[in-house]
Amino acid sequence: MDGRRTRGEAEERLSSFRSRLDCESIMLGKVYIVGAGPGPADLLTVRAVSVVRAAQVVLHDDLVSAEVLGLCPASAQVINVGKRYGKRGSSQQEINALMVRHARLGRVVVRLKSGDPAVFGRLGEELDALRQAEIAFEIVPGVTAAIAAAAAASVTLTDRRAASAVVVLTAHSSSEGPLRRPMLDLERATFAVYMPGPDYRKTARELMAMGIAASTPCSVVSNACRDGEEVRFMALADLESASGIAAPAVLIVGQVTNSEKFSESTLLLERGNEPVGNRTENPAYQ
Ligand code: SAH
Repeated sequence: MDGRRTRGEAEERLSSFRSRLDCESIMLGKVYIVGAGPGPADLLTVRAVSVVRAAQVVLHDDLVSAEVLGLCPASAQVINVGKRYGKRGSSQQEINALMVRHARLGRVVVRLKSGDPAVFGRLGEELDALRQAEIAFEIVPGVTAAIAAAAAASVTLTDRRAASAVVVLTAHSSSEGPLRRPMLDLERATFAVYMPGPDYRKTARELMAMGIAASTPCSVVSNACRDGEEVRFMALADLESASGIAAPAVLIVGQVTNSEKFSESTLLLERGNEPVGNRTENPAYQ
C-alpha cells in the first residue's frame, strides 16, 4: 500500500468520524451524563466536547471549571446544581426532576460532573431516576481526580514494584462511620482518598486505624491539573498536622508515592509549583 493511499484513507476515516461527532450520534430528549475531568478543557474526551457543544440544557456541579463551561453553546441554559452553590444547593431530587423534565421536553440535556461521573458523583441515584422515567441516557467517562492527581505528582498508582491494588475511597460517606479495613495487603496497596479534608487529622487517624503504617509515604494533590495545582509529599503521620491544604484535593497513600525509591530522577513538577515538602527533607523517604 503506498503512503498516499494510506493518508487518503486516514483522511476519509477522520472526516466520517467528524461528521459522526457533529450530529448523528447526539439525540434530542436524551440525558448525557458527562465527565468534565479535573478542569482543563483539553482533558475532556472528544465525545464529551461534542456532546457539550450540542447541549441545550446543562446541569453542572460546582467543581466543573469555567473553561469547560465555556464550551457550552451561548444558547444553552446552563444551571449550577452544585451542593456548594447558593445557600443550600439543589437537592438530589430536584436535580433528578430537572433532568427528567428537560428530557421530556425533547431537549439535549447534559449532566456535567467533575472528573468521571461515576466516581463519587451520586450517579446511581440519577440513573435510577432516569430509568424510572424511561428517559434514554448515555454516560461519557472522564478523567477522575485520582488519575489527575497521580499525573500531577508524577506517581504511578500501580507501580508493580510497590503496589498490586488501588483502593478508591472517600473520607466522607453517606453511610456514616469510620473507614473500614479492607481485605488486602495494605503494604502493597495504593489508597486514593477523595474528599480527604478539611479534617486531615481525622482522615490520617482513620487510615492508620485501618492498619496503614504511620511512616507510609503519601501525597496530597490540590487542584490537580488545574490552576492552583499544589503537590505535597509527606509521611501519613505528618498529615495529622498538615494545614493550608486547598480544596479540592485527593490524598494518595502508599509506597508508590515514594518514586525516589525506584528512580534516580528528581521530582519535576510542572506549572511552576514547588513541592511544599521536599522529598529529601521528608522523613518518609529516609
Ligand atoms: N467525580 C469526581 C469526584 C467528585 S467528589 C471525580 O471523578 O474526580 C469531589 C472530590 O473529588 C473532591 O473533594 C476532591 O477530593 C476530588 N477532586 C475533584 N477534582 C479535583 C482536582 N482537580 N484535584 C484534586 N482533587 C479533586
